[in-house]
Amino acid sequence: MACINGKTYLNRINSLQNNVWINGSKITGNISDHPSFSGAMKSQAKLYDMQYEKAYRDILTCRNPESGERYGTSYLEPKTKKDLAKRRRSFQIWARQSAGMMGRSPDYMNTVVMTFAACADLFGETRYSENMRQFYDFCKNSDISLTHTFIQPQVNRSSLYFENGGDAIAAKVIDKNDKGIVVHGARLLATQGGMTDEILVFPTGAFHFDEAYAYAFSIPSNTPGLKFLCRESLADGSRSYDHPLSSRFEEVDSIVVFDHVTVPWKRVFLNGNTEIATRLYTDSGFLPQQIHQVTSRNVVKTEFVLGVLQSLVDAINISEYQHVQSKIAEVIISLETLKALLTASEVHASVDPWGTMTPDRKPLMAAMNFFPKIYPRFIEIIQLIGASGLVSIPSEKDFASENGPDLRKYLQAADRDGYSKVQLFRLAWDLSMSGFAGRQELYERFFFGDPVRLASGLYRDYDRTKFVRQVEEFLNRKD
Ligand SMILES: Cc1cc2nc3c(=O)[nH]c(=O)nc-3n(C[C@H](O)[C@H](O)[C@H](O)COP(=O)(O)OP(=O)(O)OC[C@H]3O[C@@H](n4cnc5c(N)ncnc54)[C@H](O)[C@@H]3O)c2cc1C
Repeated sequence: MACINGKTYLNRINSLQNNVWINGSKITGNISDHPSFSGAMKSQAKLYDMQYEKAYRDILTCRNPESGERYGTSYLEPKTKKDLAKRRRSFQIWARQSAGMMGRSPDYMNTVVMTFAACADLFGETRYSENMRQFYDFCKNSDISLTHTFIQPQVNRSSLYFENGGDAIAAKVIDKNDKGIVVHGARLLATQGGMTDEILVFPTGAFHFDEAYAYAFSIPSNTPGLKFLCRESLADGSRSYDHPLSSRFEEVDSIVVFDHVTVPWKRVFLNGNTEIATRLYTDSGFLPQQIHQVTSRNVVKTEFVLGVLQSLVDAINISEYQHVQSKIAEVIISLETLKALLTASEVHASVDPWGTMTPDRKPLMAAMNFFPKIYPRFIEIIQLIGASGLVSIPSEKDFASENGPDLRKYLQAADRDGYSKVQLFRLAWDLSMSGFAGRQELYERFFFGDPVRLASGLYRDYDRTKFVRQVEEFLNRKD
């Protein structure tokens, strides 16, 4: 099988009949028809369709020289800088389709699988390394979609807290038998949980001293005992005029419950080795390859924010004001900074010990620390520029009512009629003020982990000895 189209994606997920709960009810029937999921699943299907469009095919897919079939570029293990550039271009083509709003578009997880397969020997035992490689082949050849859970439930984050015995809260391995390992408990936080073929589960930073938590595996989303408990949806069948972003890109987040789930041995990548669990993220290409994908998307998202802002400025004709220019300049500076960091990561890329062409992690770590800080500022700038226009936004139904002519007239802008102005301002509202916007802001703050610990990671990772030496030399000058 080769890379899939949207129809195959939808049919495959619908036929899994995953155990997904939302608003107190279990989803029965096709999940892609459910109003909470239909928008995002349709958007995801479109991404897969693009793999077959002539304009994108050669960037979004690669030809497997052995089988002649095509697979998604995000599954390509980069061996050259050209491969890295192709990966970036493919990330950005997909990101443009969602204005950068779908953080878990398939390329995000495809990159995770590619990266860990490329360093499969890191998993220690031959059988686990082989499982990881075979899983990669399976995902690449069948264009598998994945969700993931990398963190423990937020019960007690004190550094002194250890979960007592008794019934597990944080999912752990409670047994093993000839079929596989048995996992019981919960994990957070699967964005797109239930909307994908598989769920990938990797160890978190916590509990590494305890073997029961040192596991990694992937299982089909419909594995018996597996349950996705979703938060309420921020879309719920809304219309694209009224909710231009949430109606299309609401990915839904879920808590994942493992009720005595058996993970077959062939899907186990790690079991009980705490030492390897702690090295998985540091000794692999995980960080640079993931942040390369994330920053590629963040560039596109920033371009979109800039486009929306400039449209607001033009609509109400406020470009003459210096503070407006200065706010737009802030976003331009952020965009150019992100682009420069991304380019630097590719220019200074090198082959890692696993033989993979790996973007330079320094500029990427800088980008990953930068974006969670500037994205909330973008939102603030949209609010400061949009002002009351962000709440003077009647719905499409209002325009269709007898009040339509009044609304077109009284809500007109300097450059467009009331209907078009409200359409633009509803977009700005969905980007900066709606429930979807609030969730996006939180998403970007915590996208790649806790920003506080990300900064500590950069502090630990970044070699400053040369600069300290320079200061020493300066202090020792005799002139
Ligand atoms: C919208 C959204 C979507 C997400 N999607 C996914 C997903 O698809 N898959 C997935 O696996 N995860 C996902 N996450 C989880 C994300 O990775 C975490 O939010 C992030 O790692 C932070 O962990 P936490 O939320 O448990 O915060 P916590 O660790 O509970 O932090 C809460 C507060 O305590 C502070 N704190 C806690 N521990 C420490 C410490 N040791 N040192 C200093 N300060 C500390 C933090 O700084 C923070 O202020 C998602 C999160 C969000 C918000």
